Amino acid sequence: MPARAAPKTVILLMGPPGSGKGTQAQALQERYGLERIETGRILREIAKEPSDRGRRVQTFVDSGRLAPPPMVAQLVAEEARRILAGGGGILFDGSPRTLAEAEILSRLLSDITDRVLVIMLDVPKSESVARILKRWICTDCKRPQPPMPDIAEACRLCGGKLEKRADDTTAIVEKRWEEYTFRTLPVIEYFNRQGKVARVNGNRPISDVVSDVAHIVTERLGI
Ligand SMILES: [Zn+2]
Repeated sequence: MPARAAPKTVILLMGPPGSGKGTQAQALQERYGLERIETGRILREIAKEPSDRGRRVQTFVDSGRLAPPPMVAQLVAEEARRILAGGGGILFDGSPRTLAEAEILSRLLSDITDRVLVIMLDVPKSESVARILKRWICTDCKRPQPPMPDIAEACRLCGGKLEKRADDTTAIVEKRWEEYTFRTLPVIEYFNRQGKVARVNGNRPISDVVSDVAHIVTERLGI
């Protein structure tokens, strides 16, 4: 199916860990031809520029230190602005992660578009934890697999060997939930006060969630 045009459109996909953001992001990207905002890639590209900001980013890339969050947020927002100014649409998947970053992004995009939609995938914590602990990934094609019981067989796509992701443990999932609750929920609240959030029940089969998300996009953005 050819992508539908989504000019000057910003879709932010948010939700707790294990809510299926990656899967829904892929579906949205294919359906609307959105450009996915990936912070790491943006920083690596800026580092190559022969400019002041290029040299500033390069020092962080070279030293392996993390760039300060406000600086990263500013650079990501500038990149988003550039894509929107060219008539494109963009997708944020799980970011911005903090209120400060959300405010920087909103400020930089406010005069270029008001077509901003936050899709919040609702999944109860018990379900999210169960999904993550059952998650397997293929060592060959690196594609995630549908949740399965403890003993996983071969990859459903290429027959490769499956393994658990190293960070899919109970302790790390708890930590990701804590981070989500204290840092990301305020971001969703912030956009909610602007009337930009649509909630979707993510605790259903993937295809049902995909079609709900498509309906919301049509209803809210007319595409
Ligand atoms: Zn595979």
